[in-house]
Amino acid sequence: MTKQYTYKFRLYPNKEQISFLDEQIGYNRFVYNFFLERSINLHKNYGIKTNYYTNAIILPLLKKGFSFLKDANSQSLQATLKNLDTAFRNFFQHRAKFPNFKKKINTNSITIPQHFAINNNFLYIPKLKTPLKIKLHRKVSETVKSITITRNPSSKYYINMLVEKDFALLPKNNNVSGIDLGIKDFAVITTGTNISDKQSIKIANPKYLIKAQNRLKTLNRQFAKMTKGSKNKSRFRSKLSILHERVANQRKDFLHKLSSRTVNDSQVIILEDLNIKGMVKNRHLSKSISDVSWGIFTGQLKYKTDWYGRDIIKVNRFYPSSKTCSTPGCGYIKQDLKLSDREWICPVCGTTHDRDINASDNLFLE
Ligand SMILES: [Zn+2]
Repeated sequence: MTKQYTYKFRLYPNKEQISFLDEQIGYNRFVYNFFLERSINLHKNYGIKTNYYTNAIILPLLKKGFSFLKDANSQSLQATLKNLDTAFRNFFQHRAKFPNFKKKINTNSITIPQHFAINNNFLYIPKLKTPLKIKLHRKVSETVKSITITRNPSSKYYINMLVEKDFALLPKNNNVSGIDLGIKDFAVITTGTNISDKQSIKIANPKYLIKAQNRLKTLNRQFAKMTKGSKNKSRFRSKLSILHERVANQRKDFLHKLSSRTVNDSQVIILEDLNIKGMVKNRHLSKSISDVSWGIFTGQLKYKTDWYGRDIIKVNRFYPSSKTCSTPGCGYIKQDLKLSDREWICPVCGTTHDRDINASDNLFLE
């Protein structure tokens, strides 16, 4: 089955190429922010909704008003308008937060939809005379449909190549997995073909990750206290962004392994809806880290189930999976279960429940 797939490789631009890429990235950020602000104002003041087409008509006028845009690759600017359009659509369809203004210090990118070439570890793009060096550590045999060049906060450059890739579907099996995402453990996964052969395993957050995240927290606190605009602070920022990257990569790696294994094991994967879950579970806890991991993990499950012909089911948003007794036929709901209750005994059937395994069992039984 053919699916969209992105290859990612590191780019090694020289000094001149870096200033070229930074300029192009800057033009696109400018255009994105300009049209984001314009869309907000038009909507607020006149109730007018904008979209890609209404924005694209204005683009030539913008170029006249801001002459530096004449050096920009026009097709990239159009792609940026499409990205803004997608960001708004995702927001209105409740898939994402309201689009943010792009900041220079965050990850920034340019999309190049056409007129690029990749040849022997070199990338040729419009308006740049010299080829960029790529490290192709995997073979790309598919036709590349478009490319995106990104610069991350620690000033590394990457190329994302969008292709249509063939995926061989995994052979079907009868396993079902219920996944309960947590704070203390990353997840509890209950897998089996029916009630009698199901097994629950707790997936702990890896120790190295917890350690790195704690260190990051300490450094973030130090960073916040430093004098604004000082040399020390900017030096500290680049150190911090490198560590951020390392933690993000370690986390992604852990989540990739877990999501691949889960998709490999099970025909059907059952998950709780995260929006509500986050609100209920995290009220008293530091939430940002687990939120990010949950989001990445469910995203991976979503596209991997799609690639390999598995099914994913999101369960009813208000289903109280921790509070409901998972013993078949019982279903008692313990309304006063607190977050701190790691274990509880069902007053109806007498079963002792581990909080998280009970929740995961309930998702399995759905
Ligand atoms: Zn019970």
